[in-house]
Amino acid sequence: MASATQVKTYLAHWFQLGKKLLWNNGEAELLPQQVIQGDRFSPQFEACWQKIMSVDGKDCYIEGHRETIEELLSSNWDINKCARCDMPVPMIEIGIQPLDCACSDLDNWPNSELPAPRSPVNNYVQLHNIQKRLKSK
Ligand SMILES: [Zn+2]
Repeated sequence: MASATQVKTYLAHWFQLGKKLLWNNGEAELLPQQVIQGDRFSPQFEACWQKIMSVDGKDCYIEGHRETIEELLSSNWDINKCARCDMPVPMIEIGIQPLDCACSDLDNWPNSELPAPRSPVNNYVQLHNIQKRLKSK
């Protein structure tokens, strides 16, 4: 089961790639201009999250994804890394795994020249990843 923090991180990553969230089956399109502010989520992002939570994530999904936020917060789903691009993607815990990641419709992705979407939550992991990247050069 994905925690609310994992789902927020998932949203934050896709927002940083310019993917919109279709709220209530597309009645509204949410895409905060700023997702991260310093070491935390921006107020715009938090406002989006509140709006999503006001309907419990029902019929809210990232464009190109079929899973709703409500589903991701249910016990059948987990969030894992896409094998192709390391973005957080929904993984079903039971049943048939959907094969496509929403990254497949981004032509300029994966792109190592662009700053990778990041999460404000765990600075230690980020630092660790940067170290790893530097070492592998
Ligand atoms: Zn991917």
